[in-house]
Amino acid sequence: MVNSALLDYYRCPETFADFTLTGNLSGDSGYFQFGLDAICYGQCSGGPLARHATGELYDALRDVGADQNTLGLPFNPSEIIANLRYERYASSGHEVGARRYAKLALQRAYYSVRPLLMVSVRKYLQRIQLRDWKEVPFPNWPVDLTVERILGKLLATLLKANLIDRIPFIWFWPNGYPSCAMITHDVETAAGRNFCSRLMNLDDSCRMKSSFQIVPEDRYSVPQSFLDEIRLRGFEINVHDLNHDGRLFNNREQFLLRAERINRYGREYKASGFRSAALYHNLNWYDALDFSYDMSVPSVGHLEAQRGGCCSVMPFFVGKILELPVTATQDYSLFHILNQYSTDLWRRQVAQIMEAHGLASFIVHPDYLIEARARDTYKSLLAFLENLRSEGKVWLALPREVNEWWRARSQMKLVCQGNNWVIEGPQNDRARVAYAVLEGGRLAYVLDSHQASARRMVFRNGQISSSAARQPGVLTESRLIQALPLGLETKRNEQIF
Ligand SMILES: [Zn+2]
Repeated sequence: MVNSALLDYYRCPETFADFTLTGNLSGDSGYFQFGLDAICYGQCSGGPLARHATGELYDALRDVGADQNTLGLPFNPSEIIANLRYERYASSGHEVGARRYAKLALQRAYYSVRPLLMVSVRKYLQRIQLRDWKEVPFPNWPVDLTVERILGKLLATLLKANLIDRIPFIWFWPNGYPSCAMITHDVETAAGRNFCSRLMNLDDSCRMKSSFQIVPEDRYSVPQSFLDEIRLRGFEINVHDLNHDGRLFNNREQFLLRAERINRYGREYKASGFRSAALYHNLNWYDALDFSYDMSVPSVGHLEAQRGGCCSVMPFFVGKILELPVTATQDYSLFHILNQYSTDLWRRQVAQIMEAHGLASFIVHPDYLIEARARDTYKSLLAFLENLRSEGKVWLALPREVNEWWRARSQMKLVCQGNNWVIEGPQNDRARVAYAVLEGGRLAYVLDSHQASARRMVFRNGQISSSAARQPGVLTESRLIQALPLGLETKRNEQIF
């Protein structure tokens, strides 16, 4: 359906999202833009389409037409969004794709000799392998909001074309939180496993609960007492690859065999989430994984072994599995590729993600936090997130809580009752009606003031309660949540060295 990506994303009533395709779509896919700051990849009835995401691109916005009831588009936004999320723009034959596959071949060769290499040699080889990361034009470094921009621009275009004041939708996060953040820990080695207790102490000192991804085979033993401690302390357990040899997706047959074992460990650990080694992924094979959610796809993969990225900072469904994208730079890349021991880059990424009301998701390995300098950086990150939470700016949650919420939201529906919109569906008491409006020609979001005053929420001890002094930023009044940066030009590939 032409409007399904928009409806899934905003959960707005279908009557507000009436699109039709104009003209005949091109046979081939290519790059074009939808306004100045949203790059699209796919088929389009306008043109010409480009093979690379650089230089002058055809702007499909000028071929959007409207009559009273419907918006005519020269492309199918649902197809374009899927091409981005599934990284079809990075398929073999195009610039990014060719580089990506050459790198994957190198990476496999590297993994086969990796156990024999000293850490310093490994770091050196990884830096060589990633040395051209600053030249990758698309997605946008260090945060890519392409999916959010395309969908936001569609809403803005609908508002302009239909001459309506506002479009109701279901707010992205529970209890009106402006955005969401989560911390995940991949346990790589026995030393990392042995450090997990201390890491839980560290997280607990900032009232942070996080998830631990465990490698079930070959890397280290997984005693029941280890799993029990994580669970009993209120942290979450997920499965991290099978044996972390970097070959999970090498071929389909082997993947299916490994997926069976991975699923078995998932049941044994009572884990609902999965992450592959080194963020390798092939979303087309995910139907074999028996997990509720996955966390193996970066938003922008410049510093990952598998280049690409889903170009979004929001969860999305891959069949029955919910993808919770990795939207912040991994600690390993920060410390050992970029050589940075500060939270500057993470703070910049969180600021940009929060502008789009997205999910800030971090991978921090216990293995690397054994080093005091890295640990201090992580403590600064925890303090920063704790501060955002105390100001009501972010919902800090476990991955499984994000998964549960996003699944519940995907079942919710906006229904008109009299003059009001109400939300029906599971957990609707946590959901908020929001409105998309135009402010000075730019898209902005407003929360329903009725709901906010009827159900005043406050923040206390990491939980939302119904009475007390302080209130999360968006709940107390019909306040304008900051406009999406739709009209802003952003620099591609900002330099961070
Ligand atoms: Zn790992």
